Amino acid sequence: MLKLEKVQSGYGNKLAIKNVSLEIVAGEIITLIGANGAGKTTTLMTICGVVPCRSGLITFQDREIQEMAPDAIVGLGICQVPEGRHIFPQLTVKENLDMGAFLRKDKEGIKKDMEYVFSLFPILAERRNQDGGNLSGGEQQMLAMSRALMAKPKLLLLDEPSMGLAPLVIKQIFEIIKQINEENNTTIFLVEQNANQALHIADRGYVMENGEITLAGNAQELLDNQDIQKAYLGI
Ligand code: ATP
Repeated sequence: MLKLEKVQSGYGNKLAIKNVSLEIVAGEIITLIGANGAGKTTTLMTICGVVPCRSGLITFQDREIQEMAPDAIVGLGICQVPEGRHIFPQLTVKENLDMGAFLRKDKEGIKKDMEYVFSLFPILAERRNQDGGNLSGGEQQMLAMSRALMAKPKLLLLDEPSMGLAPLVIKQIFEIIKQINEENNTTIFLVEQNANQALHIADRGYVMENGEITLAGNAQELLDNQDIQKAYLGI
């Protein structure tokens, strides 16, 4: 579905990601793990066209997208939930969800998808008329994910969904990521510092260090890898 070949991008005169090659097959959950500053967010931003790709190829469903504008990339079905959620705090939950569907015209489909996200996160249904800014951190993460789902993405990019949340909420969020993948066949690219939880729901994973992919494998292989255990799993 998505392929990066020798992709480089960065800020000013600094390359933040170097020769990044990876592949995501339709229907998979793929995780990208790595320490603070490794280049994970930059990888997502480059896929979305927000940080320009300086060299290499990004192919989505057999179409080169590395020179496309961010809105055109969203239009192809790639939707990102950014680190720190970035919901609209002064809009209600319902209005935030409407914003997620702004490119769609199928009213019936939008209504059905809103019911679906409310079934995934019943707390959002209860709070549909409250301002997004009054929700807890966990509820804002649920809203940010739901807003992205309202765009009916083929590929959902999640940047650190567990950041700053309590363990019980993290568990719930990860279970729902798996549920979204299984029920809708939505392909998911999950960037996480919480390597343990991410590898437990992923099919495969990539490890990033200093802007480069240093290891790739299926999730169980990575969980069993002693270097990964020492560096990322605290074992
Ligand atoms: P984190 O988990 O902290 O978000 P990350 O793995 O997502 O880390 P990036 O945010 O992609 O890493 O950062 C990669 C490198 O690019 C870091 O050295 C970072 O300081 C640098 N960087 C990130 N954003 C910018 C920016 N807007 N301007 C300049 N440098 C940046």
